[in-house]
Amino acid sequence: MQKAFLSGLMMEQPLLVSQILSHAQRCHAPTEIVSRLWSGEIVRTTWGQMALRAAQLAHALQAAGCDVGCGKRIATLAWNGSRHLELYYAVPGIGAVLHTLNPRLFQPQLIFIIQHAEDEIIFVDPHLLPLASDLAPHLRSVKKWVVLCDALQLSANLAQCSAQNHSLGLACASLKGLQDYESFIALHSDQITWPDLPEQMACGLCYTSGTTGDPKGVLYSHRSTVLHALASALPDVKNLSARDAALPVVPMFHVNAWGLPYSAGIVGCKLILPGPRVDGESLFELLDLEGATLTVGVPTIWMLLLETMRQYGRKPAKLSRISVGGAACPPALSDPFIQEFGIEVNHGWGMTETSPVGSLSKPRNTTSPIAANTLHHRHGRPLFGVQMEIVDEQGETLPHDGKATGELIIKGHWIAKNYYGQPRKNDIPSGGWFHTGDVANMDSEENMQITDRTKDMIKSGGEWISSIALENAAMRHPEVQEAAAIAIAHPKWGERPLLLLVRKKGDGASLSLEDTDPTLIQGILATMAEQVVSWWLPNAVIFVQSLPRTATGKLSKITLRDQYRDFTFPPESPQ
Ligand code: AMP
Repeated sequence: MQKAFLSGLMMEQPLLVSQILSHAQRCHAPTEIVSRLWSGEIVRTTWGQMALRAAQLAHALQAAGCDVGCGKRIATLAWNGSRHLELYYAVPGIGAVLHTLNPRLFQPQLIFIIQHAEDEIIFVDPHLLPLASDLAPHLRSVKKWVVLCDALQLSANLAQCSAQNHSLGLACASLKGLQDYESFIALHSDQITWPDLPEQMACGLCYTSGTTGDPKGVLYSHRSTVLHALASALPDVKNLSARDAALPVVPMFHVNAWGLPYSAGIVGCKLILPGPRVDGESLFELLDLEGATLTVGVPTIWMLLLETMRQYGRKPAKLSRISVGGAACPPALSDPFIQEFGIEVNHGWGMTETSPVGSLSKPRNTTSPIAANTLHHRHGRPLFGVQMEIVDEQGETLPHDGKATGELIIKGHWIAKNYYGQPRKNDIPSGGWFHTGDVANMDSEENMQITDRTKDMIKSGGEWISSIALENAAMRHPEVQEAAAIAIAHPKWGERPLLLLVRKKGDGASLSLEDTDPTLIQGILATMAEQVVSWWLPNAVIFVQSLPRTATGKLSKITLRDQYRDFTFPPESPQ
């Protein structure tokens, strides 16, 4: 039996996303939020003005049937911009769930995700209207499409779709409940008392990329989101303050842009939202002109920025630090930022299931200057709020000696305990650990380093490619017997797929590599292109006599990766 204890005498207030907005509105009203739209146009607002518009949006959502605390899923199909930010606050603010959708996903995956989440309203960027019109006929739950622009812009976009193709124009115009965002919120009050909600209430939803089987929904709570945003702002994480100007390149459709839209509200820093144009030059220009002090994103983006900085012979004026994560960042990429331009690089690790920030590399006061120079080659210490361990195949904890490698396991305030729509019996029991599927070592200072991953997905430019989907697509070609797709390191994209194929032999005769002509490979790629998005297609295809198997007869990708460890794509390969 639990003993009676002396209770603390402090107020108890639930941790809610709306409190972040109210705080930013009170204390940081004049601080700017700058968005660059698809068209290149720069739109300026402030935390104060944004909060007023979020209030209008909250009323509009209620008028559209989202009662306070309804938990309905409201989706976004949009890049980083201030209207998206309004949704980030208003949807959870009234107790609905913000479901961010990745427009780069293959359409059947998007359809699966929207159907599974039973999204009711989808807010979509104007230039993504053609995608919306493709998806709409397959979606049962969606009652309304709101386009993130004003009436004039919506008419222009519809006219553009019609000019491109008459039936596309018709399909876009007949999207259910189609309305522009400005009309949707216009008639509503900009004053609101955000409702008191339980902090355990769901506030956000983001689907994983489905490493095995279908994508799985990670359902964040207000409590986990606020704690994650608070911890992520700390000096040894993003070191955010009201003097900063932060530019998240990481998209707001993927794991809440690493929590930055919420951390920024907590500290009241300037936010710069780049929209979809994140090539090196566009990014440099925005960072430079808007005085960004911090930017966060995946390694691919930093490669583009580095090239531009070298070309211009300088860094963006005020840029002092970069956070990199989401995929392995090679030292050859991170070192020059520090050595050539004096920009601090912090390498972090996380997953959709970990909200996502789990660890970040920062020196301690006992770290020697020499060690500090290479600290970003590792993935850093766990944040306060999460614990990490590495375990062997039997689940035994391994030493933190920088050498022993095992599966990384994690637990904490913002780590998933189950997936959305799965029976509660699948919950990780209390005190349990989430198994990440990543392989890592940890050193004596608790710095973790990912060395591999147990999954076989291919991460290209921060986005996943399913190796299984590639194999299935290749095997639809009549000449293909077997297929295996593996990740090969790529200087620009981090990783790109190499496809290994066993050709149908007919009479069982052995086949030499010369037997495979380029026309056959073109034919196989054409077959695959009917089933997967074009950027998933492999950079190289190699025919082999057979594929290696494990003792239980399964395809051994570990062996394949070993065999092709030193493979480099031919210079003429695509992308
Ligand atoms: P996602 O859930 O799409 O964010 O992907 C999470 C996965 O990305 C992790 O399980 C890792 O395999 C990988 N990942 C994330 N950050 C890093 C990093 N800094 N270095 C290497 N892999 C990473």
